[in-house]
Amino acid sequence: MEKNKKLISGVLCLVLAVAIIVTTSMNFLAVREVPYPMMGPSVSEVKMLSDWNPNLKDTNGDTPVYILKGEKEGGSMLILGGTHPNEPSGYMSATLFIENAVVEQGTVYVIPYVNHSAATHNDPGEGNLQYFTLTTKSGERTFRFGSRATNPIDQWPDPDVYVHYPSGQQLSGSETRNINRAYPGRPDGNLTENMAYGVMELIRNEDIDIGFDLHEASPEYPVINATVSHQVSMDIASVGCMNLLMGGIEMSLEQSPTNFHGLTHREWGDASDIRAAILMETANASQGRLRGATTIEQVLGGRDKCYTKSLELGFLYVPWEEVGHPIEERCGRHLEGIKQYSLAHNEVNPEEPIVYSGVPGYQELYLDATREELDGTHLAKFLM
Ligand SMILES: [Zn+2]
Repeated sequence: MEKNKKLISGVLCLVLAVAIIVTTSMNFLAVREVPYPMMGPSVSEVKMLSDWNPNLKDTNGDTPVYILKGEKEGGSMLILGGTHPNEPSGYMSATLFIENAVVEQGTVYVIPYVNHSAATHNDPGEGNLQYFTLTTKSGERTFRFGSRATNPIDQWPDPDVYVHYPSGQQLSGSETRNINRAYPGRPDGNLTENMAYGVMELIRNEDIDIGFDLHEASPEYPVINATVSHQVSMDIASVGCMNLLMGGIEMSLEQSPTNFHGLTHREWGDASDIRAAILMETANASQGRLRGATTIEQVLGGRDKCYTKSLELGFLYVPWEEVGHPIEERCGRHLEGIKQYSLAHNEVNPEEPIVYSGVPGYQELYLDATREELDGTHLAKFLM
């Protein structure tokens, strides 16, 4: 009798263990699927980053590059989302661009998830989401909420100290998997350095004139609602920034520090003939240290009671309105920035302009929405 009891409880434990293993494995495999943008009106071709760096082929670091070609010859522009896939305004702006832009002159290359590997996991220690869902014109669509760094399954272990190539700059070991510390990259380096090298090769081989890297940061980080530009593009960035300010968008402008290596706005300008290397930051409450629980309301609505309280207590040095920073405002800022900086580029480089229309900006995405729709509901109207 006693023996039978033990056998039954043993079998039950085994069944339970198998059930847990099957469920978690299915979840684990599912998060490795990254939902990509749909084909907008100007998408003429989708290549892979491995077309510029063959080392990425059949790795989780390979990622789609959407090519939007205008009828007329012109300049060329690169837009990166998903440098940090835990910063949704970056890849959602890239997705909005791909699905809406009508390119009339020039060519636009858009990589929605440049660190593809980082989009295939999340940071469970942060209590972060894995997905969020929006109701778009074609029905329910799911988007990933990933991590800042390359998936450790693809690149591991981290060294104690990360030594940047070629500068020799030393950073914390975890930065080894941050693509925005890996530029200009190298073909005989690790996976993250290979991804960065792929982007550099694209910039050099396709003669990219103006490049954007779209980010978000916590509301208490000083560089938010900000543009960082390589010194080569301070003329374009100054004109664009002034036009953004005149259009009612708070934007500060910083020149890329010459001694801080590995970042897009530094290395693109140093390692290629690019005419403008620009990074933009919006305010994302879900990355902040002062936040409450990471919820969809917080990630998309950009609202958090803890931040409202922090403002009252005088802890914040940056803007934090009670309405928060909804995804409509954050993507509106990025897309308006791309528009104004590319217009400024066309002014200084009139023989190779980049002309496009159809992409919603700050007005359409943010100012035209009702308060109730500022949680992704309004943004979803512009997705296919
Ligand atoms: Zn970032």
